[in-house]
Formats: sequence, structure tokens, C-alpha cells
Amino acid sequence: ARHFLQRARAQQGLGAFLAIDEDATLAQARAQDEAIAAGRGGPLAGVPIAHKDVFVTQDFPTTAASQMLAGYRSPFDATIVANLGDAGCVTLGKLSCDEFAMGGSNENAAVAAVGLDAPQPVRNPWDTARVPGGSSGGSAAAVAAGLAPGATASDTGGSIRQPAALCGITGIKPTYGRASRYGMIAYASSLDQAGVMARTAEDCALLLSHLCGPDVERDSTSVDRPPEDFGRQLSASIEGLRIGIPREFFGEGLADDVRAAVQAALQEYEKLGAKLVDISLPRTDLAVPVYYILSPAEASSNLSRFDGVRYGHRAAHYTDLLDMYKKSRSEAFGEEVKRRIMIGTYVLSEGYYDAYYLQAQRLRRMIADDLQTAFTQCDVIAGPVSPSVAWAIGSKSDPLATYLADIYTLPASLAGLPAMSVPAGFGEGGMPVGLQLIGNHFGEARLLNLAHRLQ
Ligand code: GLN
Repeated sequence: ARHFLQRARAQQGLGAFLAIDEDATLAQARAQDEAIAAGRGGPLAGVPIAHKDVFVTQDFPTTAASQMLAGYRSPFDATIVANLGDAGCVTLGKLSCDEFAMGGSNENAAVAAVGLDAPQPVRNPWDTARVPGGSSGGSAAAVAAGLAPGATASDTGGSIRQPAALCGITGIKPTYGRASRYGMIAYASSLDQAGVMARTAEDCALLLSHLCGPDVERDSTSVDRPPEDFGRQLSASIEGLRIGIPREFFGEGLADDVRAAVQAALQEYEKLGAKLVDISLPRTDLAVPVYYILSPAEASSNLSRFDGVRYGHRAAHYTDLLDMYKKSRSEAFGEEVKRRIMIGTYVLSEGYYDAYYLQAQRLRRMIADDLQTAFTQCDVIAGPVSPSVAWAIGSKSDPLATYLADIYTLPASLAGLPAMSVPAGFGEGGMPVGLQLIGNHFGEARLLNLAHRLQ
């Protein structure tokens, strides 16, 4: 723990950590030392990890990188934090992200990282002029720079896979419902899912096996299945496995360097005996509009709790209750969060609900059905994670441009499927490229097996 804390401090300029508290970390580490000495150390006793700042923690502040929650401290730990703690993990600190996990570059973080005076985008350790991806950019940068051996992250529409790809590490989001959402600050509840990032598939399997587990009392969408060892078939043969390659993932918009790296990785699988199958996900181009209607709709509802009354920022001066709501929310939410609250409120409003929200719900179902059809022709689906390698900080000012870059990660999110990113070589400027693997429901162990075989 000391080693990683020292590295985290030395690399403050990356902006990966929002909170570090050496005393809190070392107290947790000492407790693990004692457990080991007493012969009751957990399976991950003493393994230091860091948490994305959307998971509430008792020992560290939790802000979701928003001014709304600046200085907030939770009276309890999120279930996934508690699960990893029970397995023996020691918390190194809290990691930056886009505000309320809304974004794909970490440029929307609105809270200053440790050692920095003002909010800063997290920097990609491979080239500090570039973004690390998002929304879990702090998690990806911390693992890629060796500031933590593993990190938690959350994925609503790609926020584990895309930053993992852009930072050259491994990241997995399990099947929707596998990881408890209790104590995870909600963005879009029907899509939000916790997961992990680490250097290797093996490390991801270790962490994910302990992070997941039923929590039916506290999360109504938790799946009631016993914990699994996701690493049980890491080295299994992939001879004869059918890997579906969706045509629509290789069309216009995919950068040549990413295409080449992904194709090279797929050839490796062929050499290992897998069969590449041409498949179609015909509604791929609808994933972006569907997601950017449904997720803001859910966000507008979820974020209504931040009213300045129970917790969060409250304006200093106001005339009446309504004025207090307006001022508190106007002052504390960032631009992107406000944009999504407004879009979400609009698509849920009377007169537009049928035309936008309901229509998007129907298309979500069709996108999920297309994936099920694909799984009659293949065992796993593979393709790119992001259409390009990491871009320069500040170079994408149009929010629509970043929304479009989510095209390959959104189908699995809308369908609640497990999906991951595996390092697959390098593209332009020597920047890492990620290969995406999508499994059918509860297919995490197979995904990790495939990822491991590439490493
Ligand atoms: N980039 C997507 C968005 O901006 C995904 C975010 C996420 O998965 N949390 O919403």
C-alpha cells in the first residue's frame, strides 16, 4: 500500500486520484496484516486497489467528480466496496471520472484532483496531452501508470471498456445484475453496472469474482446467483469457438489504425483454433440515439434527489424554496450534466414521451433481440471498443462527436450483456488499441478466457 501511495503522490499531475488519505489506507492495511497473522486473511488479503468516485465509501469522501457532492462523506460503504473489503482489499483512494459518470473523456470532471488547485482532465499516461477516455478515466490512468494494481469502475454505456482501451489495460463489465448497485451513485439505473480494471484478465477475474454477488435485499435488479470464480477457465482451449464479427462494427468511421490492430488480434484467435463468423447487428447505428434518449431520461429522474435539502450543495442566498432548488442546482451541476437533465426531462414530458422515450424503449428491445439472434450463430462477439485511439485533450468540443464515439460499446450496454476490453496492440502515435469481447448473459468466464489467451 505504501509503495502505491508513494507512486500516486509522485504522479499527481496525471489527475487520476481525487482523494488520498494515507492514514485511512494504512489503517486498512494494518488490519489486513493482523488478519493474515491470525490466519484469517481473505483471498485478496492486503491487495491495494482504488475505487471510482461513484462508489460511496466511509473512509474516503465521495463526490462523483461533481461540485454538488464536494466534501460529501457517506455513512456506509457501497456493496461492491464492502465485498472487496471483505475479501481483504485495501483502499488506496478515490479515482476521478466524468461528473456523475457522464462523458467519454474525463474532461467533465468538476472536482480538483489531489495536489491540483482546479478541476483538470485526467491525463493519459501513454501521452499526457491526450485524454484517458471516460467516464472511468481516473481508474484507467491509475492502473496504466502503475498507481494501483487494480481499480473499480462503472459502465453505463462503455465507461469501463473505452478508457481501458484508450489506456492499454484490461477492463470488464459483468452481466447487468451481477454487481450490486447499492451505494453506486446512480446515472441511468437500467444500464449502470460496476466492474473492474487491471493489467491482465487474470487480475480482473480475481477482483471481479469477489466484487460480484447477490444483493437482492438492497438492489431490486440484483441477480440471485451465487458468486462464481470467473477465472476458472482462464487457460481453457478456444479450439472450435465461434467468434462473431459484426459487419457494422467495421464500417465507415472506424480509423484504419484501430481496424488493423483489431484484425491482427482476431487473426491470433484464428491461429488458436477459433472460427471467425461474419454476423450482422443491423440496428447498430440506432444504439447511439436510443442510449442518448434513455440514459438522460433516467438521469433526469435519478439526479432530482440533488435538491440542496438532504445533501449536496445548497446555494447561500435564495428567496424561497423553488429559488433554492434552482440556484443550488444551477451552481453545482456542470454543463454536460445540465444538458442531460434537460434532454431527459424533455423526452419524458407529456406530448414527447411516446415519440421519444417509448420509441427508444422499443428499439432497445430490438437491439437486444438482434444480439440474441447473433448468439445463435456464434459464442462470443468481437470488434473494436472505440473508433479511434485516445485524442488530444480539448480537441473534441462538440458533445455529439463524443456521443458518436460510443457506437461500439452501447449495444452490449442496452442488452445488459457482459463485455470487456483487451489490449490489442497500438495505433497512431503509439497509442494503445482495445479489442472488445461481448458475451451472452453470464458468459464472463468465457470472455476472461479469451482475453487471457491473447495475453
Ligand atoms: N460515454 C458514455 C456517456 O457519456 C458512457 C458513460 C458511462 O458508461 N458511464 O454516457
